[in-house]
Amino acid sequence: MAVTSSMNHFNFPLAPSTEAENSLRAEVREFLQDEIKTGGFTPGADCWMSESCPEFSAKLGARGWLGMVWPKKYGGHERSPLERLVVTEELLAAGAPVAAHWIADRQTGTQILRFGSEQQRQSILPRMAAGTCFAAIGMSEPQAGSDLAAVQTKADKIPTGWRLSGRKIWSTGAHRSDYMIVLARTSPADGRNRQVGLSQFLVPLQAQGVEISGIKDIAGNVHFNETLFDGVELEADALLGLEGNGWAQCMGELVLERSGPERFLSNFVLLDRALISLRGQLDKHGAAILGELITTLNALRLMSRSIARQLENGLSPDTEAALVKLIGNSFEQDVVTRVRQLLSTIPRDQWPDELAPMLDQSIFRLPPGTLRGGTSEILRGMIARQLGMR
Ligand SMILES: Cc1cc2nc3c(=O)[nH]c(=O)nc-3n(C[C@H](O)[C@H](O)[C@H](O)COP(=O)(O)OP(=O)(O)OC[C@H]3O[C@@H](n4cnc5c(N)ncnc54)[C@H](O)[C@@H]3O)c2cc1C
Repeated sequence: MAVTSSMNHFNFPLAPSTEAENSLRAEVREFLQDEIKTGGFTPGADCWMSESCPEFSAKLGARGWLGMVWPKKYGGHERSPLERLVVTEELLAAGAPVAAHWIADRQTGTQILRFGSEQQRQSILPRMAAGTCFAAIGMSEPQAGSDLAAVQTKADKIPTGWRLSGRKIWSTGAHRSDYMIVLARTSPADGRNRQVGLSQFLVPLQAQGVEISGIKDIAGNVHFNETLFDGVELEADALLGLEGNGWAQCMGELVLERSGPERFLSNFVLLDRALISLRGQLDKHGAAILGELITTLNALRLMSRSIARQLENGLSPDTEAALVKLIGNSFEQDVVTRVRQLLSTIPRDQWPDELAPMLDQSIFRLPPGTLRGGTSEILRGMIARQLGMR
């Protein structure tokens, strides 16, 4: 599937599923059903951000379902990105408590693999793959969200390594994490080119001078934080990759962050549970709404699979990832508003017990979807550039 325009095109080559993937899917599904039956977890919406359970992460690690694509010598399993996609799809569809390890498994581990020292790879990756070592993302700052190149956190060279000073905001899961990859300025911008002079650092969050304060979301829960670095002294190898290459490294990381199924499956568990109540209750109009949701979901799955295949082939499909996130976020909003609309014909006291809290949770968690990982306006700008419109 290739979407073309007069100026440029998006690449979404098809990636058909294999027998090995299908049997892996069945295995993961069976494990998750057993976990639910035996009280291992209660399914929740937006589970990759909000539902954290280190014990559950360790169970996935023991099964070989974390660090799946990393080399065996670093605790990984050398499976394909498409096999990893199968596992993440099933975890999200089940509403499993995956928030603790999500960022480490999705992007931080891969950044360490790409840019970390040998010592960091050997000491950190096996623990991440075991589901016992977690990570957070340190990009945004109070004055640098969409305009990421405006970061003011700085790292100065000192005889023993680096001294880090600054403040990161909205750091998801930092309060339960061991490491954060921090984007910091290591030298002044080159005139108007502010992307020059930025570097990434792998910061142990237990280091002296790191202060993490929770920020409550609209529902009163703490999932993200403000993280202060008050002259934190780091060893020389805390510099991840090359000095001054932080912008390019960050962009590569954002492809991993934007392209996955969590950008359209966060509310799948709600849709799934609502379907049980709606069976036999829908008129033609309701059935058409449901049909539209399901076809959009299938298209998004194909696109996400295609990106996983491209990553496997060493490509960096950043605009395609932006497209998946943009359409995915809008789909997630549709799921909640449409399900709410369809369920309105059934009195609330006739809904199964778990459905009402799930819908309430999903409504509260809708607004962040179009912000986290890059706002819809910024993604539209990237897509317009690819189409040659700006
Ligand atoms: C739930 C959640 C979790 C998050 N987790 C993390 C995390 O773990 N780590 C991390 O580093 N960050 C995280 N973020 C931060 C997120 O990446 C930023 O919120 C996002 O990049 C937007 O930045 P901002 O909030 O500063 O908004 P701003 O950049 O101030 O934008 C405000 C509004 O202006 C619009 N806008 C800005 N610039 C332009 C432009 N050039 N053209 C058109 N419109 C524009 C935006 O689209 C937005 O609607 C998280 C955010 C949320 C909501």
